[in-house]
Amino acid sequence: MPTKPLGPLKILYIEDDPNSRRLVERLLLAEGYEVYVAEDGLAGLELARQVRPALVLTDVNMGTMTGHEVATRLKEMPETRHAPVIAMTANTMQTDREIALVAGCDGYITKPIDVDALPRLIEKFLAGAREHVDDTVKVQRLEEYRNTLVTRLEQTVADLQRANAELRRADKMKKDFVVISSHELRTPITLIYGYIKLLKMETDQLALGEHLDAIVDKILTATQRMNDAVDSIINVSLIDSEQLELALKPVDLQGVVQSIVQQLQPVALQRNQKLYMSDMSTLPPVPGDANYLRRALSNVVDNAIKYTPDGGEIGIEALNEFETIHITISDTGIGIDRAHQERIFEKFYVLEDTAYHSTNRTGFMGGGMGLGLAVTQGIIRAHGGRIWVDSEGKDVSRLPGSRFHIMLPMTAPVAREATIAEK
Ligand code: ADP
Repeated sequence: MPTKPLGPLKILYIEDDPNSRRLVERLLLAEGYEVYVAEDGLAGLELARQVRPALVLTDVNMGTMTGHEVATRLKEMPETRHAPVIAMTANTMQTDREIALVAGCDGYITKPIDVDALPRLIEKFLAGAREHVDDTVKVQRLEEYRNTLVTRLEQTVADLQRANAELRRADKMKKDFVVISSHELRTPITLIYGYIKLLKMETDQLALGEHLDAIVDKILTATQRMNDAVDSIINVSLIDSEQLELALKPVDLQGVVQSIVQQLQPVALQRNQKLYMSDMSTLPPVPGDANYLRRALSNVVDNAIKYTPDGGEIGIEALNEFETIHITISDTGIGIDRAHQERIFEKFYVLEDTAYHSTNRTGFMGGGMGLGLAVTQGIIRAHGGRIWVDSEGKDVSRLPGSRFHIMLPMTAPVAREATIAEK
């Protein structure tokens, strides 16, 4: 038996009916007990583990777990096995009482609760009183209890399976919706983009004036942004469903990085930033998909530009280290707190206030959808590589900077290809 505690005795009351809960709680508080209440069996068991009550009162007919099942568990747990458990129910049949006792209850009281008798009854149980089942019916009641348990288990498993099927259906619908709607958007956007480029060529030749040129440029930038957003959504859904298919070929990494620098140099210049790359001419070709690798790397460089104030530096370097290509993208920007360094690779994870979202995409701290790094990580992993970030922390005035590392293996990601092909 546990030793008697010095403070008030703790009583746990498990009951799903709020009125009974309030009534009994008030009654027991008035008697000087420390009272804990739980709304259902699972919460009751958790609370019992924490507070180790001297006695447990439990309702029998509760939704997720019956009072009998709660009693069976309480008698199994070392923290609670010595505490008497009293079942409270409106069922007055003798067999109900016997089943409660074989399930692990030590006492059985009927509802409605007799408020005058309850305190004395509790005292009796705390002093060691226990009710017993007659040996002649014990085996039979145990069998009945076991059958009830198995039937409820079967019912619960069936309910869970149904709920699981429903969740899968809803999840598939959500994924299908994203894929279908982005594909539906992609075609018209590609058309608009093509025609605007044509229009720009025409207006450039016609010299219609700065005002019209500026309008066409703005439409072009906005369409490009829309195109990038749809691309990211499609890529993320392909990565999520492991359907990203790589067209593997030996990739000239220097060429890929050069094209990114060329594309982003005008933006960096506008921000008075220095964007440079190391000499990569001696690197061996990497097995990979050049288009996806370009997308993966340019997302990181894009961020480096975004999260570095005007006048900063962004450097891209690559080394051949033991059968692996180690690429680093360093910036002199605001940095990233350690607590977020893993989570920024999750989809839709953004640290900046969404109020920044209306700003220019390449402007300082101009927020995006939080898909860029998720796409990058998905592509790098599909290549059998990994990506992580190193930064002292975030400090907008001290500017500690961030360094993204990407490891790409020199061997083709064969295993992944096989799993993709099997699907
Ligand atoms: P977004 O498209 O919104 O930029 P990302 O997935 O590319 O989303 O990045 C997620 C978050 O990681 C960003 O909101 C930003 O807070 C942080 N982040 C990414 N790169 C950097 C960086 N170079 N410096 C500081 N913070 C960064």
